[in-house]
Parts: sequence; C-alpha cells; structure tokens
Amino acid sequence: MFNAILLNKNGDGGTDAQLTQIDEAQLPEDGDVLVKVDYSTINYKDGLAITGKSPVVRKWPMVPGIDGAGEVISSIHPEWKVGDQFILNGWGVGEAHWGCLAQRAKLKGDWLIRRPSNMSARTAMAIGTAGYTAMLSAIALQEQGITKESGDILVTGASGGVGSIAIAILSSWGYRVVASTGKLKETEYLTALGASEVIDRAELSIQGKPLQKERWAGVIDSVGSHTLANAVAQTRYGGVVTACGLAQGMDFPASVAPFILRSVKLIGIDSVMASKAKRLEAWERLAHDLDINKINAITQEISLNDVISRASDIIQGQVRGRLLVNLNE
Ligand code: NDP
Repeated sequence: MFNAILLNKNGDGGTDAQLTQIDEAQLPEDGDVLVKVDYSTINYKDGLAITGKSPVVRKWPMVPGIDGAGEVISSIHPEWKVGDQFILNGWGVGEAHWGCLAQRAKLKGDWLIRRPSNMSARTAMAIGTAGYTAMLSAIALQEQGITKESGDILVTGASGGVGSIAIAILSSWGYRVVASTGKLKETEYLTALGASEVIDRAELSIQGKPLQKERWAGVIDSVGSHTLANAVAQTRYGGVVTACGLAQGMDFPASVAPFILRSVKLIGIDSVMASKAKRLEAWERLAHDLDINKINAITQEISLNDVISRASDIIQGQVRGRLLVNLNE
C-alpha cells in the first residue's frame, strides 16, 4: 500500500479529492516502469485537476500529478532498469493516466527522461513543468533570433512558477527582463531573481488598443487574455511573443495589426507532448544555466497532507514561486 491523492467525480459533477492509501496492484496496467516517486509538485494544471475548476481530468478515478522525480523500482522497458533516476513531465499523466502525487506510479518508459547527473530529484521538481516550460519559452525566443542586444523582454505572471523561472533563466543569459505582476509587494523577490524592472499587471490586463507604443523585443506570457493581446500590441517591429498559459483567461482578444504591420511573431509553447529531443535540451540547459540558490529561494516544500489545500491557493493566484511536494514526508 502507498499514500496518494485520489480524485473522484461527485454526484454534482464536481471533484472530490482525498489523501488515501492505494494498493500497488491497482496501478494502471499499461505502464511498463514501476517507480518510487520522491518528489512531485503542484503546477497550475494540478490545481485545476484537484479543485475540479477546469475539466483537466479525462478518466475517473484519477491520481493527479503531472510531474515526478525518483527511482525505478522495476521495469520491463528496455531502456530502464532498477535504480535508474528519472524525471517525468506531462504526456497526459495526472490527466488520463494515474500521476505522481503518490508514492508509487506505473509509467511508460518512453515518457521518462534521465535526470541530469548534477541535479537532485528535489531540484528537478522545484523546477517542474513550470520551469521546463519557462525554458522551452526562452529557447523559442533565442531560436527566433532574439538576443540580449535586441531589447527588453517582458515576463507576465511574474511571481508564478513559469514567470519566476523565466526571469531567472533570461537574466542568467544576460537579457534585460521587465516583470509584470499583480503582487507589487513582491518587487524585491522579482529583482532578486533577476528582473531589472517591475510593472503592475493592471497596465496589461484590461482591453487596450490594437497597436500601442513599441516596448518589447520579446515576451514570455503565461497569462493569456487581454494581457497577451496587449503584450503583442506593444511588441517592437520583428519581435517575438511566446504564449504558454491562461492564468487570466483562454481568450485572445487581439487584432492582426501587430502581425501584418510590425511582423510580430506569436509562438505557441506546449510542454505536454513536446518531443524527447526538446525535453532533453531543456533539462540539460536547466541543469547548467539555473542558479540553484534562486531555485531554492522560490520553492516552498510541502507534504502530501498539504496538497489539497495548496491546490486551491494556486488557482486563486496566492502562491509565489513553486510548490514542491516531498513524498517521503
Ligand atoms: P502559477 O499559478 O504559479 O502562476 C500564474 C501567475 O499568473 C500568478 O502567480 C499570477 O502572477 C498571474 N495571474 C494569476 N491570475 C491572474 C489573472 N487573473 N490575471 C493576470 N495574471 C494572473 O502557474 P504556473 O506558472 O504554473 O502556470 C502559469 C500558466 O501557464 C497556467 O495557465 C498554466 O496552465 C500554464 N502552463 C502551460 C504549460 C504548457 O505546456 N503550455 C506548462 C506549464 C504551465 P502575478 O501575481 O505575479 O501577476
């Protein structure tokens, strides 16, 4: 038996979440690697699944947890053997396949990547999908030719998981970062991470004009809605905007003007189905470029007992940085 969070659909169509014990024999049969999960995290998507705020869960009952790091216990997959250290992000785990907010999981070997040798399981999960997505976004800016000489980079949702780690990555690469936040009291936190300037997200979150004063060479947006539309409208000629999230909303109330008059590019970022090659590149760069002290400073460690209450906090925008879940506590 092992401890896990279990989600059930209740009679009203809502979600009941409980901390419970599960028998190993109940783990999904289509997994070919049994793992001990040492650390997991609460990402925004885990918050949606546990609170039932959005229809993230596609199979019931479900063990949530889109992220995990730990050790292989047994495997019938040719690339994985007992004792191997893995990282798991996405692939529908915690949505359609039982996930990692549990001490054990049965996963597909094709989904796992090897944990970089200089990174602990704890650090890997302090980074988690949020940090890996921040790195995918930062790499996309670079691939599109945005250099530190191009100009300021706007990071929205700055005090959240994606935003905090995007600031740490971009500043370590020498970019000048402007952080947009609803929590101006966190200005010191954001500048310690590497932001050169902090702006109030209210400047971006209400409907604006289709074309505005040119400010940004690049944008990493995890907020969507009017914030993304305004960020695009403020992007300089030839600039690049990456979009990965919907913390404000899934809508995109924008015009084509920035695309057809300023050659602005909008790049979508998906972490869930990203190729293995992209994942390996992102994790290698996270292992080498991120300052571990910055990661520790943005991380709160909690246990499985705290997961259900903290899941509501993340959906209400009350979490700063990252929530790391220690499964051995
Ligand atoms: P967090 O909750 O940690 O951060 C989101 C941040 O957005 C908040 O901290 C807050 O920052 C800001 N925010 C919250 N509500 C609003 C609002 N109503 N209007 C404007 N800003 C708001 O979540 P994550 O960083 O983990 O994820 C961010 C988004 O990215 C989520 O939508 C998530 O689903 C998405 N995502 C997508 C992935 C992909 O593969 N495409 C992968 C990972 C995440 P502040 O207070 O500083 O303004």
